[in-house]
Amino acid sequence: MTKAHGKLVVVSGPSGVGKSTIDKEVVQRTNAIFSVSITTRQPRPGEVDGRDYRFVDRATFERMIERDRLLEWAEVFGNLYGTPTEPVRQAIVEGETILLEIDVQGAMQVHEKMPDAIFVLIAPPSDDVLRDRLKGRGTEDEESFRQRFGKAQEELRIANESGVYNHVVINEDIEAAIKQVVDIVEAE
Ligand code: 5GP
Repeated sequence: MTKAHGKLVVVSGPSGVGKSTIDKEVVQRTNAIFSVSITTRQPRPGEVDGRDYRFVDRATFERMIERDRLLEWAEVFGNLYGTPTEPVRQAIVEGETILLEIDVQGAMQVHEKMPDAIFVLIAPPSDDVLRDRLKGRGTEDEESFRQRFGKAQEELRIANESGVYNHVVINEDIEAAIKQVVDIVEAE
């Protein structure tokens, strides 16, 4: 008997909005698999290669583009990020749910290839809240804070105008936001 086709869930949202926290919990509470992206950025303290990202050099990344191994990719602040196609394809064939945490540029590429995927945008309750959360992170110097805040606002604008997202989850209360995404992942 063939199993039902799996499900692709794409989660985007600006940095500082809490999407990593939400996605980690969603993966724990459901049977969704996390799609591990490749990136050329340096690991942050606490990040584990192969779990949070696969950290690669630029030549390796470019080789994967040339060999058409990426479902989508984008450049963010001078670093490349991309989703390897194979694990996504395999999960879908095996009837699994796979969750991609990617930026809006990437989500738009996935939408072109797989318009039936489920697209979830995590948004902050307001610009002020986003600013406070980005500041509160403490890992950013002033310049990179400004860059991330600018990109965050731009990303929300493009996301809202793209028409790609089926669901917008406002992260006012983290537990409520997690539950909403769990419900989306588990819905038929
Ligand atoms: P960070 O460096 O903070 O982990 O991620 C920076 C941005 O890159 C975030 O918006 C994140 O969602 C996005 N990102 C992470 N992995 C991928 C990916 O595989 N593809 C795309 N397009 N964006 C990604």
